[in-house]
Amino acid sequence: MSSVYNFCAGPAMLPVDVMKKAQSEFLNFADTGSSVMELSHRSKEFVAVAEKAEANLRNLMAIPENYKVLFCHGGGRGQFSAIALNLLGETKKADYIVTGAWSKSAAEEASHYGNINAVNVIDNSDGTQRVKPSNEWPISQDAAYVHYCPNETVDGIEIFQVPDTGDVPLVADMSSTILSREFDVSKFGLIYAGAQKNIGPSGLTLVIVREDLLGKAHIDTPSIMNYQVLAKNGSMYNTPPTYAWYLAGLVFEWLLAKGGVSAIAEINAEKAQLLYDYIDQSDFYQNSIVPENRSLMNVPFWLNNDEFSADFLAQAQTQGLTALKGHRMVGGMRASIYNAMPIEGVQALVDFMKKFAAGTK
Ligand SMILES: *Cc1c(COP(=O)(O)O)cnc(C)c1O
Repeated sequence: MSSVYNFCAGPAMLPVDVMKKAQSEFLNFADTGSSVMELSHRSKEFVAVAEKAEANLRNLMAIPENYKVLFCHGGGRGQFSAIALNLLGETKKADYIVTGAWSKSAAEEASHYGNINAVNVIDNSDGTQRVKPSNEWPISQDAAYVHYCPNETVDGIEIFQVPDTGDVPLVADMSSTILSREFDVSKFGLIYAGAQKNIGPSGLTLVIVREDLLGKAHIDTPSIMNYQVLAKNGSMYNTPPTYAWYLAGLVFEWLLAKGGVSAIAEINAEKAQLLYDYIDQSDFYQNSIVPENRSLMNVPFWLNNDEFSADFLAQAQTQGLTALKGHRMVGGMRASIYNAMPIEGVQALVDFMKKFAAGTK
């Protein structure tokens, strides 16, 4: 197929301009005669790539000086373990706010390492799904940290207000929301994100951690997961995922050229609104999440008559609208509309949904 709009939740589409740039210098990077992926991570060319990527990310997110940025292996799930190992400390207690599949999974993994208080804060008593306001979350004052997931990729549930956890450090799994809208980094103890949703290809995980949280790791923490070891070595304690790091850097440059996070956030809001507005006024499709908690990045929807779902997916595919099948845990459809998805793609999806509904009734 010549051109498609790819709605995959992850690994997700990347901006075409980024792919073209990577292609143009694929065989000969910066006049080295080698590909970026063939260069030593200690070479001056790669060190320049690495430093520029970090500087651009710091600029995009206004990351304060007292935070380290780590470029890690191991994905979001690797961090589920690393966070517990690095941060549980002597109390070995943490609160996990559960709003969907990923936060639940994070809590389960952490429970191998300590005493995890997992609190479900979804209210679905009236048939809709809503996140209880964060001032009603039961935060333990003696927790080493509070973990939450601002955007649940599978469930399509987003929390727009940053919870106030007082002196207890707040840890956020931003895998599918980082760089999609503005966050005040200073409100967090630690932010982490697998790259394959909104940053670059899989294989790279970003950790943004406040310096005072370093040096508390459990004695058994593998060195490659130890934040202090990674920070001391500029994320090069072992060989980092160099090509993914380079591509992430190209994405950061692309985003800066687009006007940064505030500019893309406006477009993201517009894209999501276009899709939710259509779903809400249609009697063919539905989404039962309350508007205040609807994800701007992952839009799940269901056909009121599930009999037509397979046909919907097959026809969408022939129109170049790919990867719309919902996660196997929740079924239905899901359109992931990260930063790289242009508004034209969302419009094409809405046009197709209209046509499909009209043709099926
Ligand atoms: C995709 C995702 C993960 C898991 O990432 P992996 O890199 O596959 O381990 C974790 N949390 C959230 C919110 C995600 O979207």
